[in-house]
Amino acid sequence: MTTAETPAYRSDLPQQRKLVTAIPGPKSTAIHQRRSVAVSAGVASTLPVYTADAGGGVIVDVDGNSLIDLASGIAVTSVGNAAPKVVAAVRESVGHFTHSCFMVTPYDGYVQVAEKLNELTPGSHAKRSALFNSGSEAVENAVKIARLATGRTAVVVFDHAYHGRTNLTMALTAKAAPYKKGFGPFAGEIYRVPMSYPFRDPDGLGGKEAAERAISIINTQIGADQVAAVLVEPIQGEGGFVVPADGFLPALSQWCTSSGAVFIADEIQSGFCRTGDWFASDHEGVVPDLVTTAKGMAGGLPLAGVTGRAELMDAVHGGGLGGTYGGNPIACAAALAAIETMADLDLNAAAKRIEGTAVPILQTVAEQTGRIGDVRGRGAMLAAEFVIPGTTDPDPAVAAAVAKACHAQGVVVLTCGTFGNVIRLLPPLVIGEQLLVEGLGVLTDAVRAI
Ligand SMILES: *Cc1c(COP(=O)(O)O)cnc(C)c1O
Repeated sequence: MTTAETPAYRSDLPQQRKLVTAIPGPKSTAIHQRRSVAVSAGVASTLPVYTADAGGGVIVDVDGNSLIDLASGIAVTSVGNAAPKVVAAVRESVGHFTHSCFMVTPYDGYVQVAEKLNELTPGSHAKRSALFNSGSEAVENAVKIARLATGRTAVVVFDHAYHGRTNLTMALTAKAAPYKKGFGPFAGEIYRVPMSYPFRDPDGLGGKEAAERAISIINTQIGADQVAAVLVEPIQGEGGFVVPADGFLPALSQWCTSSGAVFIADEIQSGFCRTGDWFASDHEGVVPDLVTTAKGMAGGLPLAGVTGRAELMDAVHGGGLGGTYGGNPIACAAALAAIETMADLDLNAAAKRIEGTAVPILQTVAEQTGRIGDVRGRGAMLAAEFVIPGTTDPDPAVAAAVAKACHAQGVVVLTCGTFGNVIRLLPPLVIGEQLLVEGLGVLTDAVRAI
């Protein structure tokens, strides 16, 4: 329930784009200089303005610039930054206890988050959940569970996939630079097969046929009876917001069922209302055996989960899963408040509204300029893929130039894609319509100005 005392989203920050210094300003620049001697060069930032405040659809930096947020800290603050209910829940929780370790003396918040995950993830079968700290950790644990439950070792992943930065998840991730280059050797028993990427499918295959192409490779190069899991992002994230053709995911899921393999949907970026459904798998009625979650779940606090069929999740011996911090009580309190906010504000409808506003604007500039070969995505997980006009050849330079122009004018956008030629939009789902249109205007003007 939304009460008068607790507004649903943070509205005390003026919802406006307002630049009072150059980007980055002098205070950000001073911090950035300290950073360069304190923080590893291996950790990069998209836009070196240092955050002071954020809420609704804006990020305010230490120089007082108010920027339009079309990134949500990579699909995390879907309920808005410092969302009032999340803040209140965190304040309440932190005063009671900050940690006890669920593996030592457990607490109800963890159980409540597990109940919510079991309720909201696709399918009405008996489910169990386990909580972790990061998306990578959730994916690692999903693979552990699938291997143990099946007694098999092979894990099938896809071209353009992104599953994290730990050793196993680097191996599961497709793109070498910057994620894998020089960091090997990688974990074994990982097999990569072609994705359904309609804009670039070399054979022009539909979803079912693209699944058959992948399955044929699995059968011939791995052996169906060796496969512990097929791991796929229902809409790929870092790989370029690739939406597989209709029929691809259901066919893979069916093959897993008939082959005794575990179908794992990595919903870390696409979950929790981002695509206009609770989970992207819902769009085609796909019911994964295991689902990994993180990013949008806890309104900005670090929390991740693996949710799945009770018989798989309970196949693991006691003590086989866990971690010191997994399911931290404050993060659990934040997740419960964030999920309540998603339902209260109907953020699935909000995501669809964002799609309805943004897609026509992006399509118009695509037609006018020829620089965008594909506008795609679902809900508030939208992307524009930049190409050399008249071809499908990737144009990462133009994508980078457009992103840079947006940043200079106070609009935070991210790039992605195997070829680095995709600009992705992940606005907070509570962003106001005017602010969204203004941000998109800056983006489309930048494309036209190239
Ligand atoms: C971000 C992401 C991960 C990794 O999550 P971290 O919290 O960064 O470890 C895994 N899978 C997908 C699809 C992601 O988008």
